Amino acid sequence: MTEADPAHRSVQTLKGVGPSIRAQLERLDIHTLEDLLLHLPMRYEDRTQLVPLAAVRPGEAIQFAGRIASSGIQYGKRRSLTVTIEDDTGFLVLRFYHFNSRQQATFREGRYLRGYGEARFIGNRVEVAHPDYQLHDGEPPEAEGELTPVYSTAKGLSQKLWRRLIGQVLPLDWADTYAPLCFLHAPPPHTTPEQIAEARESVALDELTAYYIVMKHRARERLSHRATALPRGPQWGRSLLANLGFELTGAQRRVVKDILTDLEKRVPMLRLVQGDVGSGKTVVAAFAAIRAAEQGCQTAIMAPTEILAEQHFLNFSTWLEPLGIGTVLLTGGLPAAERRERLAAIEHGEALVAIGTHALFQNQVQFANLALAIVDEQHRFGVYQRMALRGKGVEPHQLIMTATPIPRTLTMALYADMDLSIIDELPVGRQPIDTRVMAPSQRQQLIDWLKHLLATSRQAYWVCTLIEPSDDIDAASATEVAAELAGRLNNARVGLLHGRMSTAEKAEVMRRFKAHELDLLVATTVIEVGVDVPNATAMIIENPERLGLAQLHQLRGRVGRGSNASHCVLLHGGKPSANARARLKVMRDSSDGFFIAEQDLKLRGPGEILGARQTGEQDFRVADLSVHQHLVAKAVARGDELMAGDPGKVGRLLRAWTPGSSETLAV
Ligand code: ADP
Ligand code: MG
Repeated sequence: MTEADPAHRSVQTLKGVGPSIRAQLERLDIHTLEDLLLHLPMRYEDRTQLVPLAAVRPGEAIQFAGRIASSGIQYGKRRSLTVTIEDDTGFLVLRFYHFNSRQQATFREGRYLRGYGEARFIGNRVEVAHPDYQLHDGEPPEAEGELTPVYSTAKGLSQKLWRRLIGQVLPLDWADTYAPLCFLHAPPPHTTPEQIAEARESVALDELTAYYIVMKHRARERLSHRATALPRGPQWGRSLLANLGFELTGAQRRVVKDILTDLEKRVPMLRLVQGDVGSGKTVVAAFAAIRAAEQGCQTAIMAPTEILAEQHFLNFSTWLEPLGIGTVLLTGGLPAAERRERLAAIEHGEALVAIGTHALFQNQVQFANLALAIVDEQHRFGVYQRMALRGKGVEPHQLIMTATPIPRTLTMALYADMDLSIIDELPVGRQPIDTRVMAPSQRQQLIDWLKHLLATSRQAYWVCTLIEPSDDIDAASATEVAAELAGRLNNARVGLLHGRMSTAEKAEVMRRFKAHELDLLVATTVIEVGVDVPNATAMIIENPERLGLAQLHQLRGRVGRGSNASHCVLLHGGKPSANARARLKVMRDSSDGFFIAEQDLKLRGPGEILGARQTGEQDFRVADLSVHQHLVAKAVARGDELMAGDPGKVGRLLRAWTPGSSETLAV
């Protein structure tokens, strides 16, 4: 890095950046001048035109200028300061509700004011409230020639400050690769919105390309790492197969084979298994753990929630203990002595399978010989977290399982470091879940139906979006509904499950529900992921309008897990919005995770799209997959081309977008 390269210079070297501003910037993850350059404007204000005062119309953000004709305080319903300015065409009233006497004194008659703001009807007159403005003693300077960038910001960092900082950074000696960034911070006069979008695309393409290259490098690098080879042993898996009580689907068999083939190698496996809810990923993982155990090696299984960890423990211990494979569960709520005992069993290798939440494994669990790490429901963890599992001598093989359908174009680029297996088949005998949308007026009818269902020895979930009643949100709460239903479903045993209960309490409720000591489980969305009770055949979701499609799909996936007919009822709160109605209709009409994910993409606002939030890939600084999805395939092609022929360009890209990685990746 040379002195001339401004990219890595600290923001502290800028005028006006003292310790407090520096701390504020660091909170936004801005440390260097390059970080600053990458903090792109979120939008622009057009201050290139001055609107004649007579032509000011309500509803538009405009720039205006004029001579102050008068100012004074008005005492109406609310005290306010008005300033009237005039030009050759007419006049305009500016109104301030918050002001002080010093500010008031600056609006002297005869001075000039240039301002920017949105004109609105106030009473029957068009006015501008709280404009951005500057005062001038003489005629104001010409309108600005350029669009004015507006930055997303945090407390204590004004737009003026951003512009001042960027103003110091732009004239430095930036390499060509930064040209589109510089352009976006200071678009020249007459720049069109299309040109801005184009520049953004070019930056996003760079970022996606860099990301893809890093993933590719990681994949290549992995080939030189070492894991414990786990060759075929006594084939304990066969006895599990014989005792499962069901046949594996063709897709499950194929994926098990993919995994076992990987495990036989000394190269660490990194495989992503994608399979819709209910496709049977857990048992697939069990065969991998068995293979490790056959060789006397340990497996760590990580779940995103304690409930899910508990449940995996129930499954794995049922499947593995008969094979003599010791299995332990680690949860946050364990008494100290118990916890020590289990940790010791892992450390001494008596337990070959350890199950817990991701967080627990990060707190230093010592293994005797860990050979395999299984991460369930990967979409809850970010990319960089998924890397944190690596390293420490011999690497464990990694198996990552997700129910989130990730479009192929995204996996190609964003998961380029992984191999991919897809379980694209549901176990036979699964019946489609009958999904209905109901209005609040049908609640009684629903409860009567539920009464009948529970009387046939089936179980049900009733999901609410709140734990307790709220003053601000008009939606049913789990505590209220549990009490209500306990009263109205006279003989039914009703349980309650929500995130504010202790781990031990949650586990106990889940255990009772699984053992059919409870008929109905009223819960919040804590049961969203992975919970598996095949005898539960009804899922009622109250206020589904408050949930996203992906979440609804996950919740519905809690039923339809056995061969019995299952039902899902979406009980909305009355008068759903057009968008909510559209989402409910998608749920009613489809059970295909990929289709639902696509619709989700269409129905959500930009920035919360699948692939970004849901897959945990929110590490992009500029690229926004809701806007830039079409660039992904391009990034792959370009990345491959650069890696084949232009190492210099690759190095520059990586230095710009993934500081740190270019050193470790030896490019
Ligand atoms: P997910 O892929 O959502 O994690 P699970 O692994 O929890 O799904 O499996 C859902 C249910 O289906 C479980 O009760 C599991 O025992 C059962 N199951 C898994 N594979 C099969 C199969 N091939 N045939 C019948 N049932 C199966
Ligand atoms: Mg699962």
